[in-house]
Amino acid sequence: MTDTHIHTKVFSGDATLEYKELLDHCRAHPDRIVCTTEHYDYDYPYINDKLIFDPKQYSQTYNDRKSDYERTYGVAYPVLFGTELGFIDHLNEVYNNFVSIYPFDFVIASIHSVDGVDPYYDKAFYRKGKEKAYSDYLNHIIDMLICFDSFDSLGHYDYVCRYAPFEDPSMIYSDFPDLFDEIFKLLIRKDKALEFNSATASVFKRRGLANYMPDPEIFHKYREAGGNLITFGSDAHSVSNLFSLYDESIDLLRGSGFDHINFYKKRSPVILDI
Ligand SMILES: [Zn+2]
Ligand SMILES: [Zn+2]
Repeated sequence: MTDTHIHTKVFSGDATLEYKELLDHCRAHPDRIVCTTEHYDYDYPYINDKLIFDPKQYSQTYNDRKSDYERTYGVAYPVLFGTELGFIDHLNEVYNNFVSIYPFDFVIASIHSVDGVDPYYDKAFYRKGKEKAYSDYLNHIIDMLICFDSFDSLGHYDYVCRYAPFEDPSMIYSDFPDLFDEIFKLLIRKDKALEFNSATASVFKRRGLANYMPDPEIFHKYREAGGNLITFGSDAHSVSNLFSLYDESIDLLRGSGFDHINFYKKRSPVILDI
């Protein structure tokens, strides 16, 4: 099992998950591989100081923890070294440079703000209505995929649904087939993965929505278009969300035509049969 979208307390300002809790989890489940993907949101319009880390310190701390763990337990370190980049148009060069300097195993590219507005902080974003809010978000993903290459997997394509005030906040393939097809085409052409992010489903489940899982058609269409690279991420910010809805997510992916998921080591995909 693998969960490759995780935030921990020291390096992601919005997380409560202690690194020790993550290591305890790995000790209790020796078959699991995880990747910390701390937030790196350069020029973030809200709490900039909290959503960025000192990369030298992150890298050094990772190496120290890894050697400590391997020395103590005599097994390979189950944690990989990653980051989640919050993309904004003008950051292309900044991120190309950033990613080339530090030895990341895995890089997620995400959109957290649309024209300077993060729907998590500003619910006014949804006043334009569901169709416009969701299509604006997907169009920002497309713009990012056209110009940006320094990443491995597209993070939470459904981020915009998580905080939506609509009675039915779900996003389904048939609402935006052209936008989804364009996203799949770009990912496949650039050899990038699509992320299955279970955080939105967890939020929907807590809200009591009957259909809380993502639309399987989205993953089915991606697979059908030739999509082969797929990662799983809980986007956990606390210990209780590690591997959240993992079994249901894997079932959904199997039903959509996948017989594997991927994790990344030194920026190369590794296949894990499911
Ligand atoms: Zn994110
Ligand atoms: Zn995240």
